[in-house]
Amino acid sequence: MRSQDHDRIFLSPPHLGRHELNYLHKAIEDNWVAPAGPNLAGFEADICAAVNVPHCVALSSGTAALHLGLLLLGVGPGDEVLCPSFTFVASANPILYCGATPVFVDSEPDTWNLCPVRLREAIEDRLRRGKKPRALLLVHLYGVPAKMTEILALAAEFDLPILEDAAEALGARFKGQPLGSFGRVGVFSFNGNKILTTSGGGALVAHDRALAERARFLATQAKDEAPHYQHSEVGYNYRLSNLLAGIGRGQMELLADRVKRRREIFRWYQEHLAGLPGLAVAPAAEPPGALANRWLTTVLLAPPDPADGPGPPAATPETLRRALEARNIESRPLWKPLHLQPLFAGAPVYGGAVCADLFARGLCLPSGTALAEADLRRVADALREALA
Ligand SMILES: *Cc1c(COP(=O)(O)O)cnc(C)c1O
Repeated sequence: MRSQDHDRIFLSPPHLGRHELNYLHKAIEDNWVAPAGPNLAGFEADICAAVNVPHCVALSSGTAALHLGLLLLGVGPGDEVLCPSFTFVASANPILYCGATPVFVDSEPDTWNLCPVRLREAIEDRLRRGKKPRALLLVHLYGVPAKMTEILALAAEFDLPILEDAAEALGARFKGQPLGSFGRVGVFSFNGNKILTTSGGGALVAHDRALAERARFLATQAKDEAPHYQHSEVGYNYRLSNLLAGIGRGQMELLADRVKRRREIFRWYQEHLAGLPGLAVAPAAEPPGALANRWLTTVLLAPPDPADGPGPPAATPETLRRALEARNIESRPLWKPLHLQPLFAGAPVYGGAVCADLFARGLCLPSGTALAEADLRRVADALREALA
């Protein structure tokens, strides 16, 4: 191992700023460790301002926010929920928590997100079978906006409420409007590897005050209005702590800067990896009017060319991942499509070849905002060597 290879380059580690500690300090000084306190209200106000939505509930994770979001849209046992196959399992697990079934829809090759053509096919086929899906769970993968014009038109045509999983897309926009604000309910994650972090946390946003109030009620054990502990419904313990919300306040100050830096890293890779043999630098594209936050920069290997005949085995995402790992650089495969996961065996799927192909050829590169130019060069050099 070379000397400069000692420090591990992580995929997307937390990147703290200067003010998180001030908010934590103040909370401890004031004994606002629990329950809900000023940091929580402040963090929610920061998110409302950034996302341009009037109501926000800070929660313990993005997964918890998705679970509550589904409940707010009335998803229950036996219902079907439309969901992209190409996403992290946390998008679809909450569908199972509700006793509902995911109906998976393939990606389209431009943004890698929900394919509007397949989506129409799925909706019409479910209707023909006599069951209208209860909701559409929309994901913006790797911070790249989905084809919103087409998807919003379909949701309106079939009167489908959207639960917007913007866990990876904080700070991204479509036609100037922040992602997360398009759905009836929007969801963010502040997990450790996301663009901003509270170490672990999430948030639910809504335009409708009643929905947000209901989310807050369900997130705090669904306690009825009474002086004693009175309960008529199943509740959850999903609220974010006031301490972690303090970290979130410090992080929210940095959002614009972090989006700018992720986009710079994306452009750096695009420039410096262009022309590498076997690498199709064709990452997910911004649809017209979209601004991606480029949470993770991804690359695709060129599709195998059958005309090549027998020869040295072509690079795969796994050979690249191992070559980077040998240089102490962390990388990850793209999300494995959910319709290929044993957990979801038997779930309906519309298409599936596009996201299966992306999974077979793609890799996520280190994209943390604290990466220095020398770190990026180490990644590019390792890829160049591996592909030579
Ligand atoms: C991270 C993530 C989630 C879950 O968020 P947590 O805060 O880790 O629970 C959900 N959906 C997507 C697309 C994610 O990337």
